[in-house]
Amino acid sequence: MSISELTTAELQSGLQAGTFSAVELTQSYLDAISRREESVGAFLTVCGESALSQAAAVDARRQSGEQLGTLAGIPVALKDNICTAGTKTTCASRMLENFVPPYDAHIVTRLKAADAVLVGKTNLDEYAMGSSTENSALGKTRNPWDLQRTPGGSSGGSAASVAARLTPLSVGSDTGGSIRQPASFCGVVGMKPTYGRVSRYGLVAFASSLDQIGPFATDVTGAASLLEVLAGHDERDSTSVNRPVPEYSRSVEQPLEGLRVGVVQEHFAEGIDEEVASSIRAAIEVYRSLGAEIVDVALPHSKYGVAVYYLIASSEASSNLARYDGVHYGHRASEFENMVDMYAASRAEGFGDEVKRRIMLGVYALSEGYSDQYYLKALKVRRLIRNDFDAAFKNVDVIAGPTCPTPAFKIGELVDDPLQMYLADVYTISANLAGIPGISVPAGFSPAGLPIGLQLLAAPFEEEKLLRAARMFERETDFHTKVPQF
Ligand code: GLN
Repeated sequence: MSISELTTAELQSGLQAGTFSAVELTQSYLDAISRREESVGAFLTVCGESALSQAAAVDARRQSGEQLGTLAGIPVALKDNICTAGTKTTCASRMLENFVPPYDAHIVTRLKAADAVLVGKTNLDEYAMGSSTENSALGKTRNPWDLQRTPGGSSGGSAASVAARLTPLSVGSDTGGSIRQPASFCGVVGMKPTYGRVSRYGLVAFASSLDQIGPFATDVTGAASLLEVLAGHDERDSTSVNRPVPEYSRSVEQPLEGLRVGVVQEHFAEGIDEEVASSIRAAIEVYRSLGAEIVDVALPHSKYGVAVYYLIASSEASSNLARYDGVHYGHRASEFENMVDMYAASRAEGFGDEVKRRIMLGVYALSEGYSDQYYLKALKVRRLIRNDFDAAFKNVDVIAGPTCPTPAFKIGELVDDPLQMYLADVYTISANLAGIPGISVPAGFSPAGLPIGLQLLAAPFEEEKLLRAARMFERETDFHTKVPQF
């Protein structure tokens, strides 16, 4: 077995035992990148040299007996909407194609303090708007399980990087499903923490009331170790919550006694592929066989989730993206007649179609005379969605269901049909609207060999429970051990 097929925990113990050095480990992942990246296209930037020098520094400090951080020597890739001082952060947009941030995002500072090795920046849908990574203006990412298919999105590069074993861990952001949906499509673990659990400082804002940073890993324990580093209070994000961070990586191995698993019958109704439905039913049976009680729960307002999300997310995006005008930030057109024309031309050239669509939707929903009807109404329904979850979590510990209605779709299949594309997130969006944590874990393969993800949701700040429940399932199954061959 090659190094790149080991789990994060195995890598950590290999490094500690001196079976391989951090430089050897990093080099083996960089070799995997040179072999496979051309087919996958997970990265927008690979920082090979700086990764090797970070690894060398870790080895030297280990030699001298220094106490090292929890991710010492472990390669990590970052979605390219997370600011890295001195390294381009493009959001996969022409607008920020040459933007080099002057500062690190909070989570980058945390990763450095944990002695992780930062390998590069991954592809995404422009400004994280999309579900297939096809909206990237700077590259195409393919699903390692079938190179004709999308990896999902918007964190498609981060998901594909872990699936293709180009890095053992990666970081994404999830506004409406952008970690969980690509995790499901790529057969890896992806988690969106509770809103406020991880600082958004240095994450380029898409929809500030929904955005949350989270981990990808090949297994639940790896995701727990990474979340432990990402999570925690940061004064620079006023929505970051000041609560202790549990030792997720330790508690994750403890099974839950008397687990109550909620199931929403509507999840199995229209629009879901039969192959997905049967894998998810089988996953629920795994919990039953472990002694869990399976309880029906109702989330009657979640059916409005997609509509509410596209109003709220687009409204916030239209405001957040106003700063990219070629003056404060971003691309400036080279030809224009006057100042107003310069703004217009810069934005017309800098943004892609989907970003423009969201800005127009958002500006419309917020406009005088319409904001009561659209934006404010959406906020009220958002509250009802949250209330449904609050009620459900009085009776169950986690809610289990499909992450996505289908396995990965083909490149080009939905790109001209925005509404169908939006529906890829029907099951993931409500968690963002409610602010609750969710995880996707590998739970099967379609007859064509495409991964299927099980989504588990929990009450706010119950990440520990969520990870433990996910690990219980993972321990009984071997889907997460399969590696795509290409
Ligand atoms: N696919 C959803 C969208 O296009 C969610 C994106 C995300 O979570 N960043 O907005």
